[in-house]
Amino acid sequence: MTYETIQIENFGAARRISLARPKARNAQSQQLLDELDHAIVQASEDDSVHVIVIAGQGEHFSAGHDLKEAQASRADFTVEQRWAYESLRYFDYCMRIWDCPKPTIAQVQGACVSGGFMVANMCDLIVCSEDAFFSDPVAHTLSAAATEVLIHPWVMGLRQAKEMLFTGGRVDAQEALRIGMVNRVVPTSDLETETLALAERIAQAPPFGLRLLKKSLNRTFDAQGLRTTLSAHFDTHQLSHVTEEFKAVRDKGLAKAIQRNKSGESA
Ligand code: ZN
Repeated sequence: MTYETIQIENFGAARRISLARPKARNAQSQQLLDELDHAIVQASEDDSVHVIVIAGQGEHFSAGHDLKEAQASRADFTVEQRWAYESLRYFDYCMRIWDCPKPTIAQVQGACVSGGFMVANMCDLIVCSEDAFFSDPVAHTLSAAATEVLIHPWVMGLRQAKEMLFTGGRVDAQEALRIGMVNRVVPTSDLETETLALAERIAQAPPFGLRLLKKSLNRTFDAQGLRTTLSAHFDTHQLSHVTEEFKAVRDKGLAKAIQRNKSGESA
């Protein structure tokens, strides 16, 4: 498969998959998500790859789902069509990153918003630059019950998640470090080298042992109900796509909701 919206690079046993739509702030189009999923599956099956880095080219990690495309091709989706689209591309693709048998690291700079937040937080570790910020403003912009995968309380704590989602505000890099949502904050100029150094260190461990270790660590969240609560939220999120509140936003234009939002963030 030849990719058009992502780039694959190997650094020893580390594979970096970069979102490569920098002019669109790496907005996640259908093609980008399909290519990312394909690359994750391929890297999972490739024995030469021990660690996977997910990065974004340009100034931002990802501004979220591509709302211009959503408005053009999916605004009139039925409940059934939206369910099929979002359960595969947003929910299942995300969980495939979470369940990836190899350690994953998100390399984050600039905006890491909504759909971008979901993807970055599916990774085992996050290294971010000083200019990185995290948000999920879709309750304010789209009248949606957050994004599709409510990973937020699991990675930042319930109270912090409530504040971020209720206000539609940002968590900056230092705050993300303070609350344990990211592993490291590094100068922007060092982001790439620091992330690769971490990946190379992890890649030195025997891969099957790491695979078992990751399974056990993720099961600590499974035992607390991670999968059940995430899939329950997916249903709630779908309900929020057919409310009068959502329809009013859609009729004014999904992409315009970003511009209407004072903080200027995407979804
Ligand atoms: Zn949705």
